[in-house]
Amino acid sequence: MSAPSTRTATGASLTIRELTVGYGGAPVLHDVSIGIRPGEIVALLGANGAGKTTLLRALLGLVPTTGGALALDGTDLSPLRTEERARRGLALVPDGQSVVAELTVDENLRLGALWRHRGAAREHAIRGIYELFEPLARRRGAEGHQLSGGERQMLALGRALVAEPRVIALDEPSLGLAPLVVAQIMATLRITAERRGLTVLLAEQNAKSALSIADRGVVLDLGRVVADAPASDLADDSALRHAYLGF
Ligand code: ATP
Repeated sequence: MSAPSTRTATGASLTIRELTVGYGGAPVLHDVSIGIRPGEIVALLGANGAGKTTLLRALLGLVPTTGGALALDGTDLSPLRTEERARRGLALVPDGQSVVAELTVDENLRLGALWRHRGAAREHAIRGIYELFEPLARRRGAEGHQLSGGERQMLALGRALVAEPRVIALDEPSLGLAPLVVAQIMATLRITAERRGLTVLLAEQNAKSALSIADRGVVLDLGRVVADAPASDLADDSALRHAYLGF
């Protein structure tokens, strides 16, 4: 991995205002408001079922919203389909295994770049991912199913980054990984965000790890925001940690 460089905020701002989302009429998110500045890393925290995945899916238009507003750099996202949101720079790295197991690392990255770049630009974008993630470069001919959990998560992140998003939303990148691997993934994410000026919304149950790299944390409980503060303040608040963050 290359050394971190000075942060240049080229990411987009993301505005979530009084967002309400439900499944089949049953509300899951209630009046959720979160403002994220360009280049900021925000940890989205909360227990199982708090609504983190639902919020990320709503951002991409994968679940319909029933109230409120979403905006990317001030542009209202609500009339835009998922593909158009992606074209404007929003990327989602879903939890679980989002890489294609039968394809090689290189083929997975090409798939991620397919709709965004052609020819030399595609090669340049893929080279950029290998420079960021040297372990992937060493494994470029390995198929998805041959990778370790950490390598797979890195590839999932690389596949999203190769399309050069301005805002990246990640759902539980630490899921199922050993603590040392989680620490590596988090450090990689922080360095990548700094180098590319990316705006990051990082949904995690592993609050301690997420707060270690985030600028700010937002805590959801039963679909409502119960805290929104600088990451260090949340990490220092023992009552809040015990009540909502599990550490
Ligand atoms: P986890 O970490 O367990 O994924 P989460 O914070 O991401 O939790 P969500 O997955 O967003 O939470 O779930 C929030 C609530 O919405 C839960 O009560 C869940 O049961 C419900 N829910 C999620 N997906 C659906 C669905 N497709 N249909 C109906 N209810 C759903």
